[in-house]
Amino acid sequence: MMALIDLTRGKTASPEWNASVTHVMPKTGAHGLLYDEQVKAETDHLYARVRHVITPLEWPAYAPLIAAINRLKVERDAVILAHNYMTADIFNCVGDFRGDSLGLAREAAKVSAKVIVQGGVHFMAETSKILSPDKTVLIPSLQAGCSLAASITGADVRLIKARYPGLPVVTYVNTTAEVKAESDICCTSANAIAVVEAVARDWGVDRVILLPDEFLAKNVAAQTKIGIISWHGKCEVHEQFTADDIAEIRASHPGAIILAHPECPPDVVAVSDYTGSTGAMSDYVQRHKPAKVVLITECSMSDNVAADNPDVDFIKPCNLCPHMKQITLEAIYDALLHMRHEVTVEPELAARAKKAVDAMLALPPAPAGRFDPARRVPDTLELI
Ligand code: SF4
Repeated sequence: MMALIDLTRGKTASPEWNASVTHVMPKTGAHGLLYDEQVKAETDHLYARVRHVITPLEWPAYAPLIAAINRLKVERDAVILAHNYMTADIFNCVGDFRGDSLGLAREAAKVSAKVIVQGGVHFMAETSKILSPDKTVLIPSLQAGCSLAASITGADVRLIKARYPGLPVVTYVNTTAEVKAESDICCTSANAIAVVEAVARDWGVDRVILLPDEFLAKNVAAQTKIGIISWHGKCEVHEQFTADDIAEIRASHPGAIILAHPECPPDVVAVSDYTGSTGAMSDYVQRHKPAKVVLITECSMSDNVAADNPDVDFIKPCNLCPHMKQITLEAIYDALLHMRHEVTVEPELAARAKKAVDAMLALPPAPAGRFDPARRVPDTLELI
């Protein structure tokens, strides 16, 4: 059964405060960093954005690392990209850009900074390198992988193309550079429906190959007349949610609005109030300000959206991404201090991967894809 954390409990500093497992207290002392007057002056303004998840007693353990990272960023001419699934301390206190992986990589490509520190997982750092080949891209932990990206290789895509000649390959951005390089066009969870329809129109076909997320493919297939061929990759965070979990949330939190990510199984989408990308979920909360909301996605995202929506009560379904959680304040500090671990992408491979990303960016902007919960996955969907 899924663990639920009600963020409203944190506001009352109840004994359950530390039930939030999204945070592991940093060992500031191990780095010889102290909470002194200077650190307090440099970080006090940042505390307001994380006070809903970090107690005043805990803050002196975070602040010295946050101050040290923010100083190192200036020394190294670096920016930190903070994905929506980073813990609130990283997202709010050291991140220069915040959002989804593609949005972050695009922002980083525009700045003059020489160094990019990826607050996210390895495929995201590769995308940053592909879009910023002249910058040094660092990933704070070599353990920050991804079950979805690991589900498929470039060789797999070559075999699929040989089996379905003449059909375009649309690849979700949550893939390695090697897989993107074998693809015709990339997509995100926000634009997947629009990309599938646009590429089918351009190629004059009625079927496309959409890789590698089985559930995203099924959810897209339910919303379009274009036939979908897909792969059995899954996000180990989103695949855990079930329709029973949603029923349980509705029973224990009447009136809560449930927003799901399209990497969730279709039966979860069918019983949720709204389905969209991380950006679309965040926009929904900003726009509608529901009294009580549940984000069916990685646990930390609720903490981060809550920072901008203090009057909304967030019930957190606590599924953590073990890969994202490899990125800690300490790991970021060490990455900047020692300029480690640099991510490189072989230039010829990067050029081919960039072509697939650029093909997506060249499409006219479309509103975030709407996943109508009433629509069902067609029998024609083919899983390889
Ligand atoms: S949340 Fe899922 S898709 Fe994102 S990095 Fe973790 S395993 Fe991969």
